Amino acid sequence: MPDQTSLSTAIDARRDDLIALTQALIRIPTLNPPGRHYRDICEFLDRRLARHGFDTKLIRAHGTPGDSEKYPRWNIVARRDGKHSGDCVHFNSHTDVVEVGAGWTFDPFGGAVSDGKIYGRGACDMKGGMAASIIAAETFIDTHPDFAGAIEISGTADEESGGYGGVAYLAEQGYYDASRVQHVIIPEPLNKDRICLGHRGGWWAEIETKGEIAHGSMPFLGDCAVRHMGAVLREFEDRLFPAMAARHTDMPVVPQGARQSTMNINSIHGGQPEQEPDFTGLPAHCVPDSCRIVIDRRFLVEEPLDEVRNEVTALLEGLKSTRKDFDYRLTELNSVLPSMTDRDAPVVRTVARAIEDVIGVPPEFVASPGTYDQKHIDRIGKLGNCIAYGPGILELAHKPDEYVGIDDMIDSAKVMGAALQSLLLPSKKDKTSGS
Ligand SMILES: [Zn+2]
Repeated sequence: MPDQTSLSTAIDARRDDLIALTQALIRIPTLNPPGRHYRDICEFLDRRLARHGFDTKLIRAHGTPGDSEKYPRWNIVARRDGKHSGDCVHFNSHTDVVEVGAGWTFDPFGGAVSDGKIYGRGACDMKGGMAASIIAAETFIDTHPDFAGAIEISGTADEESGGYGGVAYLAEQGYYDASRVQHVIIPEPLNKDRICLGHRGGWWAEIETKGEIAHGSMPFLGDCAVRHMGAVLREFEDRLFPAMAARHTDMPVVPQGARQSTMNINSIHGGQPEQEPDFTGLPAHCVPDSCRIVIDRRFLVEEPLDEVRNEVTALLEGLKSTRKDFDYRLTELNSVLPSMTDRDAPVVRTVARAIEDVIGVPPEFVASPGTYDQKHIDRIGKLGNCIAYGPGILELAHKPDEYVGIDDMIDSAKVMGAALQSLLLPSKKDKTSGS
């Protein structure tokens, strides 16, 4: 494969550029919340990609959650058309990073290089992946200026808070329409030899049990909402959790523990509100008239959202008919449907072959226990030919001393470059065509 060797050699020669680009991205502290410096990082990407012949567009997601004059939700879409008609390969990276947290030994926005790694918030999730995809695209364009089709690179806001001011907005505006994009690779940190096909769904709801306030010395004159919530939790323990544990999926979710339905109880609040820490008084004696929990239910591609919802409401309705004075209110907070790209989809087969060629091992196919922006590309953009593939170790995301390995970035840039060769060089087209 002479072509791949020369592309790989050219990527090796840009190692310093890759390191400098990753550091520059890390040094723009795009913290979300609240959504800082989105405009700055888009302008930085604009300058860089325009230099390489991309047409760029900065797009503000007006009116999306968190968008304000102080914290506008800026995105960038950069497109480079080839010399002939053909498919468009789109690399999407989120530009936002989560809060720093405690426990760092490196400057979280310094981009220090140590022992073959670059450290900083977002190094792994996912500025390293973004840098690798930019180096792959630029090198491919320089070594194959006569390519067919198009390459797009987007930098999008708010993935860490649901992606509504980022990919969801772009999808609503038609940026993922089949007429302009055919293949999407999201360089999230999934390890350089794994292809992530999709993710589980999520359903978030608040449940409140109702009671009646009364003096704590005479609880029989009131109705204790916390005891009602205890009955809800008992139903969950006795029936819901065992039922979910018995439900397995064909999705290759990692880690193994997430290869079934799961539910977390995020919070519980009942009775009188917590007082300020400097309050030195004693509690008053009341029967609580309200108790609330927030549940975080993650579900499988085999489970319709309606069934997930009905399973919980059926338990609550059951309590209503069997438990004296039981009443509840369920408020749905958000939901995300599962997404799973077919193993035979063109982008999956192409990247799988590129991993074998470049890294020399067959790829592992995985699915994410949480969710990421693929949901919007799939559900709003109606584009199913989408995967997550990128350097970095998933378990380091959001942790102190987050880093990305430089060799890993180089290797995945080579894989992305090889995928571009398969998809955008007319002579190689026959390799990916088929069913
Ligand atoms: Zn991420």
